[in-house]
Amino acid sequence: MEKNDTIEILLIDDDEEDYLIIKEIISQIEYQDYTIQWVSSYEKALMEMKKGIYHVFLIDYNMGVKTGLDLIDELGEMNRNIPIIILTGLDDYKIDTMAMEKGASDFLCKGKLSPGQLERSIRYAIEKKKAEKQIFYLAYYDALTNLPNRIFFTEQLKYALAYAIRYKRTLAVMFLDLDNFKLVNDSLGHNVGDLLLKEVAQRLCSLIRKDDIIGRNSLKIPIDTVARLGGDEFTISLTEINTYENASIVAERIIKVLNKPFFIEGHEIYTGVSIGISLYPTDSNDADTLLKYADNAMYYVKKMGKNGFQYCQKSMNDDVTDKIHIMKNLRKAGEQNEFLLYYQPKMCIESGKLIGLEALIRWNNKEKGIVPPKDFIPFAEKYNLIGFITDWVIHEVCRQLVEWNRGEINLLPVSINVPVIQFKKHGNVKYMKNIIDSYNVRPELLELELTESIFMDDMKILNSYLNEFRSMGFHISIDDFGMGFSSLNQLKHIACDTLKIDRSFIMSINENTADNIIINSIISIGHGLNMEIIAEGVETGQQFEFLSRNNCDSIQGYLLSPPLPKEKIPGILKEEAGREGLGIQLLKKMKGVM
Ligand code: C2E
Ligand code: MG
Ligand code: MG
Repeated sequence: MEKNDTIEILLIDDDEEDYLIIKEIISQIEYQDYTIQWVSSYEKALMEMKKGIYHVFLIDYNMGVKTGLDLIDELGEMNRNIPIIILTGLDDYKIDTMAMEKGASDFLCKGKLSPGQLERSIRYAIEKKKAEKQIFYLAYYDALTNLPNRIFFTEQLKYALAYAIRYKRTLAVMFLDLDNFKLVNDSLGHNVGDLLLKEVAQRLCSLIRKDDIIGRNSLKIPIDTVARLGGDEFTISLTEINTYENASIVAERIIKVLNKPFFIEGHEIYTGVSIGISLYPTDSNDADTLLKYADNAMYYVKKMGKNGFQYCQKSMNDDVTDKIHIMKNLRKAGEQNEFLLYYQPKMCIESGKLIGLEALIRWNNKEKGIVPPKDFIPFAEKYNLIGFITDWVIHEVCRQLVEWNRGEINLLPVSINVPVIQFKKHGNVKYMKNIIDSYNVRPELLELELTESIFMDDMKILNSYLNEFRSMGFHISIDDFGMGFSSLNQLKHIACDTLKIDRSFIMSINENTADNIIINSIISIGHGLNMEIIAEGVETGQQFEFLSRNNCDSIQGYLLSPPLPKEKIPGILKEEAGREGLGIQLLKKMKGVM
């Protein structure tokens, strides 16, 4: 506030005479303009105070049954923002110190008031409040985004938890991490990175419930909070979710909003977000534990392909904290032959011919039954066991190909999922070649599926590996394509044969024209770069028809076949060699539909 701006005073006093006296004193102050508004009751005061238009509150200590100090207690957050001066009839050291402890800026005796003294007291109170606010801001806020920082967030969360415990409410904590933010920073510079974080903060705030914060706070109800922990990590607390599904709705909205392009300094930037969610009372009643669990769940999303959300599961956290248990179990699984592969066929849309099989791992656990890869691959990656699993898969696929070959049926190429962190080892091309040579399997029968995050690695080195593999006859494809950052731009830099369009795009065919356009662009750019395009997760005739009409080369998905146990594959291959393979049957069915 500038020096000469009018200062708006709210006087809360049940005695009209006192009001008239104070008004008169104020009118005698020469250096500063004031307006004074008077309310005579405690209840009216609360309503008036919420308006947020006053620069200072003058509060009478004696308010009938209640006191001015009770009013300070009710103010909550506002008490931090607006200076308060307590007025009393008599000097009283005890009340004076109590008022100070509660955050009042000054304590004045009405009988002794002079214009000079009141002016000085108001001026000091306002300045002191400003300094306090500044200190508070520095300690509790992130200067780049203006969002609360980790300390503030944790404090708010602790308060929200205490409230939820007391009133039997549910609460969700979200841990967000932008996908590929490092790439933005490295390729476009820190300035663009900072601007991106600011915009992300704005988009997040626009999504989180904007209640009348002052009103809620005067009732001391915890509010939803968005905070930045640092780097590209954000947290959100949802303080009143009636059902857990409400947290899913918020997470979906966040993903949608952050998936829209950012236009920053002439760059069109795409970023995804990985979100982990933990819940009170399901997961924990401790703020730090909830944050840690949400972080673990976020990490899991990252490993499963990013740009999504995941609830923390008790079992997942137990596993994460019990690293040794996981390592033992996974290692044992390998030794005790508990891993197995399912195979999912892929077909050429035009001819209906099967073009290959994807090997998908399962863990047949004695206690849990068949465990899907999403429940153990991320841990294997985290605890450095993925190399051992990938080795097992390569050996098993080769062994299987040799076994099927004995049955004298025509083989189809089999694709193997190779995680990027693992790829560097298998980037050692000789290593892979040695394995397949030991089984006498031709590289043409193998395809390596790499996830899109390979774009983050050093492209030169990566391409040299990829080209070496390709020149030997291995097929290279990029899995889950479209989920990462600006990948279409990067596509020209990568040496691969096939792009697999991520299932999330295929799922929204016909619902979402934006996704339809993206699919179209992937197909035409990929074709322009001499790549084959395959769509994964094709489930409906409508999706098939759209992909066929838009020149997609091939499909994989439940519409054609789910992943099948190895015993079923010889039958499929024999059928394929005969007149009517699986794909031809589907084509015929589709023609009936189309
Ligand atoms: P992915 O490589 O993208 O595999 C495709 C996933 O989509 C498979 O899930 C498959 O069962 C599923 N799928 C196929 N068609 C459809 C469909 O029409 N609808 C739906 N809803 N889903 C469909 P799965 O087998 O659970 O594997 C999940 C992920 O786990 C794989 O995604 C891959 O990233 C990873 N994974 C699987 N096997 C291995 C492996 O041997 N090694 C490594 N490192 N990762 C693996
Ligand atoms: Mg795959
Ligand atoms: Mg995939």
